[in-house]
Amino acid sequence: MKKSKAALILLTGCGGCAILLSELAEKLEQGGWEVKVMPPLYVRLDLAIVAGYAKTRVQKTLLSKLKDTADKTIAFGACASRGAYNLQDKAPMEAEAYIDGCPPTINYAENLLEKILNNKNQTENQSVCLECAANQNLCLLKDGLTCLGPITKAGCNGLCTKNHKGCLGCMGVLNRSKAGKYLRLMGKKHGPRIRKQKEIYLGEGLL
Ligand code: SF4
Ligand code: SF4
Repeated sequence: MKKSKAALILLTGCGGCAILLSELAEKLEQGGWEVKVMPPLYVRLDLAIVAGYAKTRVQKTLLSKLKDTADKTIAFGACASRGAYNLQDKAPMEAEAYIDGCPPTINYAENLLEKILNNKNQTENQSVCLECAANQNLCLLKDGLTCLGPITKAGCNGLCTKNHKGCLGCMGVLNRSKAGKYLRLMGKKHGPRIRKQKEIYLGEGLL
């Protein structure tokens, strides 16, 4: 039987997503997919997973060609999903689905990919605080730390908070209207740090 074809497309980024994508590729191959890294532009694809953002003209051309050659495109990681480190254009790339995070954890990515491939609802409505509760972490706000957990999408299993580090928001904003209020509150106490985090992860219009 002919295998479904998937491509991993690596654009400008820090390389964190590439490591995760190599793990995800293994899972896809175990599930019967043929996976290529940066295949030629004319290859027809069932799935393209794109990490990083398009900085150069060549990368922008590559992204626009994918619209014709790939049946489904997934933006992978915070750069592709919302231009986290793209200082010129903090916008998501056009895609059928998004696997956010800097980088996404492998469990989160696998679960979400499974939902995407089976056309299941992908809406995330829980925050990192829920993961603190599940891990029985004491809330860091009580220690006076900055934490963006209440406004950040769950999925990382509270990686930072369980190591006594405030959440930086790398999984992306859960609810933009509530986030603004929370950031203003936090900003009064932790101004410069919040501004830096907002610049990187949270996008415009929240403070
Ligand atoms: S430490 Fe942060 S993520 Fe955890 S419960 Fe407190 S505010 Fe929420
Ligand atoms: S705790 Fe926050 S900053 Fe840390 S991995 Fe999770 S979402 Fe990212």
